[in-house]
Amino acid sequence: MKETRLVCDLCTEPRRDAVVTLALNGQKGVAPTLDVCEGHRLKLIRIFNPKKKPGPAPGTRTDQQIEQRIMTFIEKHGSGAPTPISLATGIPRWTIQSAMLKMREAKKLVRDGRGKGATYRKA
Ligand SMILES: [Zn+2]
Repeated sequence: MKETRLVCDLCTEPRRDAVVTLALNGQKGVAPTLDVCEGHRLKLIRIFNPKKKPGPAPGTRTDQQIEQRIMTFIEKHGSGAPTPISLATGIPRWTIQSAMLKMREAKKLVRDGRGKGATYRKA
């Protein structure tokens, strides 16, 4: 009796048995299909799930970028405080505040007033 079995379309000889038939959907007409073995199935899944590139996570800002946003705000408004700058930039208030403290230490900003009412302007 003749036995028909599916073999992996991607394997070179000797071809392994296919464990699954994959179809490329989403286009008109007949979807192309591939019969693949377990090893090739895993390789294809990896193509669909590329590993994230190393580096800072999206949305991560460097100190320099934060400083630049603060300076832009202060130049535009004449002065600024952490809360309105946070609201305008979408950067968390504590991040702004610590950056402004560093900028003050670096003599880039001067503080007017005290406590919650304190504002900062360009030195
Ligand atoms: Zn294979």
